[in-house]
Amino acid sequence: MYDVIVIGGGAAGLTAALYSLRAGKKVLVLESENFGGQITASPRVDNYPGLPAVSGSAFADALLEQVLELGGEIEMERAAAVELDGPFKTVRAGRESYTGKSLILATGVRHRRLGLPGEETLAGSGVSYCAVCDGAFFKGKKVAVAGGGDTALQSALFLSSMAEAVYLIHRRETFRAEAALTVRLAGNAKIQQITPYRITALQGETELKGLTLIQTVTGEAKELAVDGLFVAVGQEPDNQAFAGLVQLDEAGYIRAGEDCCTSAPGVFAAGDCRSKGVRQLTTATADGAVAALAACVYADALDFSAART
Ligand code: NAP
Repeated sequence: MYDVIVIGGGAAGLTAALYSLRAGKKVLVLESENFGGQITASPRVDNYPGLPAVSGSAFADALLEQVLELGGEIEMERAAAVELDGPFKTVRAGRESYTGKSLILATGVRHRRLGLPGEETLAGSGVSYCAVCDGAFFKGKKVAVAGGGDTALQSALFLSSMAEAVYLIHRRETFRAEAALTVRLAGNAKIQQITPYRITALQGETELKGLTLIQTVTGEAKELAVDGLFVAVGQEPDNQAFAGLVQLDEAGYIRAGEDCCTSAPGVFAAGDCRSKGVRQLTTATADGAVAALAACVYADALDFSAART
């Protein structure tokens, strides 16, 4: 029996584990892919207070180390379902089941796809969703980045140090990325901005060879030969496995306020997976702390009532 089970080992989930462990709780973290979550794809995090210019993966490694040093247990499993047994929560993951007094959902988000024919087939063969992870494969080659947010601009800037040419393709003339990134972009001669254009087709059957683009205003089409495409068009939630446990909003995010409380008693939501206005590293770690402290209170209350009966 765990006091706190955390589903998701990103910044929110690991912070939740850290706070729960420091409160003396027995804690399990379930993670299906990589510890650190989205932040590991950031080559440089410049806006985490007190830690200027740390890489996302160094940040994640240090946080995981903190959790392990405090005795946190981890399992590399995807949580498939959660069942309630009175106040207890049983998480089914792989062939195992884990039961806890309180549960923190910190499932983050997954990369949004462009939804083009061949995109799934070409993933790993020219199409990537992570410049930090795959950029080195494109040294001296021509690459495109799709998107106009922080991730797209960070990816283009990162790739410009190794690729022969970087094309940043965005469907509008203006970028939604933070001003500091647009300033760095403007000063980078290696990055060619192609706006306002949409990618309408991927060329190549087993390997990406190029892109078909359409100018969004005039409808003019053009072809662009590239070896790689980095898709950075945002994220979407991945909470369907918990739809019967907690309420989701229209977009699929878990309904929970700043107190991280969901519609199910003893189940909390932290980080990008919950409905919220600002999805940043700072807000993810803040949620982790809030959810953990609430989860610990819930677990203590169960212990207290068990001791009285
Ligand atoms: P985002 O801010 O949601 O931006 C997604 C971009 O992709 C937008 O420019 C959007 O265009 C475009 N887009 C969406 N769907 C598209 C489609 N189907 N086809 C073509 N383009 C499409 O996503 P993000 O950049 O991944 O950032 C997510 C969150 O993480 C944000 O809150 C961001 O601030 C944060 N973040 C912060 C940092 C940092 O260092 N501060 C780094 C990375 C991420 P429109 O602009 O036209 O909507």
